[in-house]
Amino acid sequence: MVDVQFCGQSRLIACAVLETSRGITLIDPGPSSTLHTLEQALNAHGGLAAVQNVVLTHIHLDHAGCTGRLAAALPDLDIYVHPVGVRHLVRPDRLIRSARRIYGERMDSLWGEILPIPEHQVHAVEDGGILDIGGRKLRSCYTPGHASHHIAWLEDETEIAYTGDAAGMRIEGADYIIPVAPPPDIDLVLWEQSLTRLEEEAPRTLFLTHFGMVNNSRGHLSEMRGRLRTWADAVRCSLRDSPESDAVRADAFHAAEMNQMYTLVEECFQDPYRYMGQPRESWYGLARYWRKKDKAEEQLREA
Ligand SMILES: [Zn+2]
Repeated sequence: MVDVQFCGQSRLIACAVLETSRGITLIDPGPSSTLHTLEQALNAHGGLAAVQNVVLTHIHLDHAGCTGRLAAALPDLDIYVHPVGVRHLVRPDRLIRSARRIYGERMDSLWGEILPIPEHQVHAVEDGGILDIGGRKLRSCYTPGHASHHIAWLEDETEIAYTGDAAGMRIEGADYIIPVAPPPDIDLVLWEQSLTRLEEEAPRTLFLTHFGMVNNSRGHLSEMRGRLRTWADAVRCSLRDSPESDAVRADAFHAAEMNQMYTLVEECFQDPYRYMGQPRESWYGLARYWRKKDKAEEQLREA
């Protein structure tokens, strides 16, 4: 595990480094802005040149942002992603535009340069597809909900599941799980099904991008399901009951969740929760889901 030190902070984004008989495989190499940290960490394992494969859980910039720069530096690099992710890696302009809308002036300093990837370097992986890389096997497990194109990668031999954002965020050492639910893809039904899939796979260990290893995977997944429901219900209530603007509702949700975090999380673990997985952003993701659902039901009634 490499802590890529996002924004100079530790325990925000973890990249998994797998040593194989055919060089290094990275799972979710992280943003472009932290590529130098990753590169330094890889020096002990043969350097950047030893990286042969990049395996992505999904294409969000905090997980996959530096993949284009890696592909430019390593023309033989192979990249594996959900079929829906392929076109965004090959032509990232839409991804960049929508991120720029959200992050504005902070876009470049937060995420760094996002480069398009030559099509021949990107490989779409089906559900259940197995990558056999230098003696290590990774099995794809479609886990939509956080993103429609999310894959959790299972390594049966080590019984580790690399869950990206599907199993939420929990800072290693802290006993506090939150869903990360930003717009635009959030789907609660699919997300719960994905949690069930992960429970059925029953891996021994979860590797969370945000952040680190979880040994009690069963307990973690069940708690994550509960937290997702609580958050979804709270957002639903705020949409029904409060006459305020979205900004005010999101702020109120954010403040309440952060207060809870401050009471439940030891001070030395609070910083990562302040910087990552912002409840405010998740309010917007969940609100979008509920509104889409309400609209669809309304249309059905009218039809
Ligand atoms: Zn993430």
